[in-house]
Amino acid sequence: MQVIDTHAHVAPRRYKEAIASNGAWHGLDYVVGELHRPDGFNKELEVRLAEMDEAGIDRQLVTPSVGFYQYDKDVDFAVTVARECNEDIAEMVDDNPDRFSGLATLPMQDVNEAISELTRAVTELGLKGAIINDHVNGRTYDEPEFLPFFKAAESLGAVLEFHQGGGGVSGIGTVVGPRIHRYSLPNGIGNLADRTITFAALVFGGVMDACPDLKVLLAHGGGYTAYGIGRLDKIAGAFEGSYPDGPLTAPFVQPDEQYKLTRAPSTYLGQFNYDCITYDGDALRFLIDRVGVDRVMLGTDYPAPMLLIDSVNWINGLAQLTEDEKQAILRGNPSTLLGL
Ligand SMILES: [Zn+2]
Repeated sequence: MQVIDTHAHVAPRRYKEAIASNGAWHGLDYVVGELHRPDGFNKELEVRLAEMDEAGIDRQLVTPSVGFYQYDKDVDFAVTVARECNEDIAEMVDDNPDRFSGLATLPMQDVNEAISELTRAVTELGLKGAIINDHVNGRTYDEPEFLPFFKAAESLGAVLEFHQGGGGVSGIGTVVGPRIHRYSLPNGIGNLADRTITFAALVFGGVMDACPDLKVLLAHGGGYTAYGIGRLDKIAGAFEGSYPDGPLTAPFVQPDEQYKLTRAPSTYLGQFNYDCITYDGDALRFLIDRVGVDRVMLGTDYPAPMLLIDSVNWINGLAQLTEDEKQAILRGNPSTLLGL
């Protein structure tokens, strides 16, 4: 069974060629694909494969770099960008079927177009699903307008990786950016905060009840979700009243139109998948203990600056994990999620 990295990005080939020849691709510049970073997204395929070999990684689940979300642009433009990115990813996968699987990017500002492109990506291009931001121009996924999208993803068996992005600068679009922009904290904290909001929106918004077989992959270990789950249980009323034998009794009254949970938020933890990008063995141990060892898998963030360096050796060297857990993280769990 292969060692599979479920969190890796790539700047599409046709985009890189257009930037190199005339400095723009559909009006998008070099920053969108993060080509301004030294030793990063400009890597040639041969270098990528050699670095995968060196790291002991057999397969990457690759996504277009997150600057290509383009949710704030005209729909037709976002559709064009998504389609071309996805065709590029599909070519990369088709040319190297033993080394890569792929996720699409989608024009999420239009749910019908997002469903259409996800369907095409999975059924025609052979991609495994899509990578999407934690919000769509500020709208979170508990909004009813998104439910048909999640229904479609569930019926397609598509993996949805939630990952902050936009504008080509990691973390700039997270909730932390407007509060403090220094010290790279929109990345250092914002990514994890955004992922926690996504978990809560999907759970409290009823999406995980409506789509129990939805394959969700929360990047960056799900952020603060596992650590903060007790507080979500508290506001949902899981510590009050007669749970688990009766309805939850939340300590804060909710407006009638808001969804009411019938079980504790913590019971949904095992319905999500998480990559191992915590940079901390004790945090990874805690994540596994809360969500289940079958739900955590290798991710590296290659070739971004936040790369989990020497990830396979790091996992294998962790005293906090058993040998079976290491194998599940590196091989079994990602293989199961991707249906390989
Ligand atoms: Zn990433």
